[in-house]
Formats: sequence, structure tokens, C-alpha cells
Amino acid sequence: MRQVPRLFVAGPLAVGAAVSLEGGQVHYLGGVLRLREGAPVWLCDDMTGEWDARVAAVGRKRIELVVEALRRPREAVADLWLCAAPIKGARWEWVAEKACELGVARLVPVLTERTVVRQVNAARLRAHMIEAAEQCGRTALPELADAVTLPELLAGFGGRRLVFADEDGREAVREMAAAAAPAAVLIGPEGGFSDGERAAIRRVAGAVPVSLGPRILRADTAAVAAVALWQAFAGDGAIGD
Ligand code: SAH
Repeated sequence: MRQVPRLFVAGPLAVGAAVSLEGGQVHYLGGVLRLREGAPVWLCDDMTGEWDARVAAVGRKRIELVVEALRRPREAVADLWLCAAPIKGARWEWVAEKACELGVARLVPVLTERTVVRQVNAARLRAHMIEAAEQCGRTALPELADAVTLPELLAGFGGRRLVFADEDGREAVREMAAAAAPAAVLIGPEGGFSDGERAAIRRVAGAVPVSLGPRILRADTAAVAAVALWQAFAGDGAIGD
């Protein structure tokens, strides 16, 4: 039984709602999957949840669907931000995709002293996150924040716990268990943090510096490792404690 296709569409969805698709989604449903009238499709709107829908009409440039019933309400999302310095090329889009798969609530691009990439293509990142959510079964998309400088980020932290992945740190990764949501994981650029930045980050109330091990990880590896570890110690893994 081929998996029913899942798509994110504009919301809010409701029973009986008519949904009209164009562009890439028509190519995917009509051209690639060759769906016909009556075919089931699962629609998500990142607001109400995931719905059973059915193809009502297939055209070359437009596909109409009708929403039938709610399958799952939008998931509860642990209040975890991934604050990461943008890095070059596809690796940055890979970070956005993994952040979505790993349940991040918000991706915050952080411009640090050594960040080389200063522009963020929000549309491309959002497209990668939507594709990741459609594939991994999430019913919620990470928010994509506007890029902020490190001082701006640190100034507005309030009560959120800041897990600082410090490649020069000595603190054990299990310290993350203290950083229950609302939390943020902070990852530096390819060139790392400056000593001044490192001191400023450690001065943030509630900061939890951790080492991710004795090896220097690439920024994209560190982002995925740190978020997965946070989920294990203080997120998904902490459920049922
Ligand atoms: N300054 C490093 C490169 C930084 S790696 C060098 O000497 O080459 C990019 C980011 O990944 C770092 O800023 C840090 O946030 C994270 N990172 C990489 N390895 C890490 C480790 N072993 N422990 C904690 N954080 C790490």
C-alpha cells in the first residue's frame, strides 16, 4: 500500500473545506504520483493539524481537493530554539531540514563575529523545512526567525535556558538535563566563537555550556548532535520522567 502523500497547505483547514493547489504541488500529485479523482491525500496547515482529504478534480495546472476529517491535531512542540550561525551552501539547508526532523520549534540564524554567510534565504530554508516535515510526519513546522546578531540574541533571552555548545568548554553534555524547555541551543560558525563572545554567552543567566565531546565537529554536525542530545536529556527523552 503506497503511503498516502502528505502536503502542507495554507490554513486553517476544516471539514468540507475546498483546497486548490497550483505549481509544484500539482506537478507532484498529478505528474509524479499521477493521482486521480477520489485519491486520498493528507493535508497539514501548521495550525489545526493533519486532515484526510480527497482529490476532487485534476487539471494540468490546478488540482482541487475536499477536506473530509481531522486525522491528528497539530502536535505539541517542545519550546526549543536552534540558534545557529548560518554556514555555507547546502550544509545550512541541511541544518534547517534536520532541525525540523528533530522537533525544533524555532530556527534562529545568529550572525556572530566570524559568521561568513550574512544573508539567509528564508524562502529556500522554509521550503526545505516543509519538505522535511512532509516526509517525517510532523504536523508543525519550525518557525524561521529573522537573522539576529549574537548581542541582540543574548540581550533578549529572558527566562529561556541557553545551551551553549562550546568547542572549548569542558562541561559534560549531561549538564543539558538541567536545560528543560523553554530552551535554546547555540552553535557557532565554521570559525567558532571569539573569546569575547564566549565570555558574553557564559554571562547569560541560566546559560548551560556543554562540550559535545573531544572532537571538533563541523557546525552542521554540532547542530544536529546538540539538538538530538537536548531531546534525549530534556525533550522527547524526558517525557514520562
Ligand atoms: N573553532 C573550531 C570550529 C568551530 S565548529 C575550530 O577550531 O575549528 C562550529 C561550532 O560547532 C562551534 O562554535 C560550536 O558551537 C560547535 N562545536 C563543534 N565542536 C564542538 C564540541 N566538541 N563541543 C561543543 N561544541 C562544538
